[in-house]
Amino acid sequence: MGFRSSVRRARPLRQACRVLLGLAVVLAAELPSWAGSSLSAWRIGRDGNLELRTSPGIQVQAFFEEGRDGLGPRVWVDLPGAPLHTRVVPAGGAVREVRIGKPDYGTTRLVLEFQPGTRLDPRQLRLVGTARDRWRMELTGVAPGTLLAVGEGDMDGAPAIAQSRWSARSFGSDFASSGRTTSRRPLNPEGLPVVPRGRFRVVIDPGHGGPDPGAVGIDGLRETDVVLDVGLQVAQLLQARGVGVSMTRTSEVDVDLPPRVNLANSIGANVFVSLHANALSMDRPDVNGVETFFFEGGSSRDLAVIIQDQVMAVSPGTPDRGARPGRFYVIRRTTMPSVLTEMGFVTGQIDAPRLADPNFRRRLAQAVTSGILAYLNR
Ligand SMILES: [Zn+2]
Repeated sequence: MGFRSSVRRARPLRQACRVLLGLAVVLAAELPSWAGSSLSAWRIGRDGNLELRTSPGIQVQAFFEEGRDGLGPRVWVDLPGAPLHTRVVPAGGAVREVRIGKPDYGTTRLVLEFQPGTRLDPRQLRLVGTARDRWRMELTGVAPGTLLAVGEGDMDGAPAIAQSRWSARSFGSDFASSGRTTSRRPLNPEGLPVVPRGRFRVVIDPGHGGPDPGAVGIDGLRETDVVLDVGLQVAQLLQARGVGVSMTRTSEVDVDLPPRVNLANSIGANVFVSLHANALSMDRPDVNGVETFFFEGGSSRDLAVIIQDQVMAVSPGTPDRGARPGRFYVIRRTTMPSVLTEMGFVTGQIDAPRLADPNFRRRLAQAVTSGILAYLNR
């Protein structure tokens, strides 16, 4: 199913030539203002396509502006809902950078800034809806081989129509492309609880990413690195047990909180686990410990208790700060059992050296996976 509309000229906002590339309407359902950005993921591929994954049934507008005054041409897409924070993602090749902006309080603007001299043909640029939550634009005119792959979020997530059962299809290409798993020995699920294959789907959310490294602690230890490494390993271990896994990010990119939640809610995940590391000021190395937060109501408390116990079992000597009620966005707005685990303090004298150790992160990944599987098996 495609939605193709003709090129129209928009009222020029400045002297520059701005062309409305296509007003693609799938279902003109207004998003409530609390929904946050409707942009869940985006990707520029070497194949010359810009692809978007959005909330289903939204209205999207795309624009083009010629390059001038030493600036390259730009293409941008406006989507409903504002991002929590605006950001610039360095790209490469013909695309200089990608910006996620907030032109007003109700809009996300995804801007592709091309290198000066890049030739694009606006008469051939179209943003095409390929499903209720997918969009594609062929960047016609850009010389072949000059686009490098860049993106944010999980483009390969399941389509927006929720299904009750999931096959344990591999998301391996995502993990391979990140290339960031730092532990050397191959992961082995031996000893982990066994669950029926193909029945469950889990969302793993490595907190932070991109320009937001989260907490930074002793010796420059960054929360974003710790949680991404552990998260990728948890995903691999779950897959080895036949559990379908979606990750909110698989590389060093920044994803807003609403898309993380939307991903989990839209695919009907059984469990959502957000991974973090804590921090206090650098002059409090005495503060250490593991804690797991759940939003009260439902069965998230059970999940939190199990994961907290498993993580504590591999973290002797650090304080057990317990499974505790919390109100973090990602656990408050997800509709399935969900927890946020703080796996230690990057500023703590006990925790920091461990979190920096790839072998300890392996044990953390096994502990978190073990907790998830035990919960699914109840
Ligand atoms: Zn954090």
